[in-house]
Amino acid sequence: MKILKTIAQAEQYIDDIKSQSKAIGFVPTMGALHSGHISLLKRATIENDVVACSIFVNPIQFNNPDDLKNYPRTIDDDIQKLEEIECDILFYPEVKEVYPEPVFDKYNFGQLDKVLEGKFRPGHFNGVAVIVRKLFEIIQPDRAYFGMKDYQQLRIIQTMTENLELPVQIIPCPTLREKNGLAMSSRNVRLTAKERLIAPSIYRILVELKKKATALSVAEAESWALSQLNNFKELKVEYLEIVDSKTLLPVKDWKGSDGVVVCVAVHLGYVRLIDNLIIF
Ligand code: AMP
Repeated sequence: MKILKTIAQAEQYIDDIKSQSKAIGFVPTMGALHSGHISLLKRATIENDVVACSIFVNPIQFNNPDDLKNYPRTIDDDIQKLEEIECDILFYPEVKEVYPEPVFDKYNFGQLDKVLEGKFRPGHFNGVAVIVRKLFEIIQPDRAYFGMKDYQQLRIIQTMTENLELPVQIIPCPTLREKNGLAMSSRNVRLTAKERLIAPSIYRILVELKKKATALSVAEAESWALSQLNNFKELKVEYLEIVDSKTLLPVKDWKGSDGVVVCVAVHLGYVRLIDNLIIF
């Protein structure tokens, strides 16, 4: 695997690949790689000639300095995992390489970055958009793979790509879960043993909600799920919302939308967990 640490190195290496008309599949990550990341990379391997992964803990998408400080960093393990699956390229720059100057770029996503995560993490999606666009410019992927685990992020990236007519196909990939249903996340390593027993309840409640949803009104379904989550004193719910799967705006009744998704964010100990489930 070729490890590239500067933009100049990466651009030169990528230009060479492009000149051979090879298709590049790209998976941007913040490292601490787990099977969820690996599933995206494996799909990229099947669909492209060359696979590139980036590892960059993007400071401008963190609205909480403690979260940035405590974000797990496991680069040696990550490199080993990438070697095992025969990833071709790792782009692993330092912060000052990516942001030699402060960034003032502002994206307008309308309502899309104001709801759900956007309400609780101001500036987060602008930071995501800045880094993903920058990485797309450097890596020039034909296809880029994003997990549905971060559903709102996926919608933001799809919207940015459409609005700016970027020449990259965005491929949504299903959420990988532990056997007990907990969505895999780099942050899970910070859960205590006791919290690890509670965390799977989040997905279990989403699954139950999906089963009973359309027999109830949207408001009833939401308040049922909220009350189930609130039964666990350890879970502090930030939001649980049933929203339109395109606009992410709340739906009032089941008939108003072609697609509906339930999105949730909870605090468990020091860890903030998000998850979602497509209802239809
Ligand atoms: P991150 O390193 O958390 O920024 O994630 C990098 C990419 O992996 C994003 O597209 C995430 O949505 C995706 N991802 C993270 N966790 C999972 C998971 N459990 N299943 C599938 N994709 C995931």
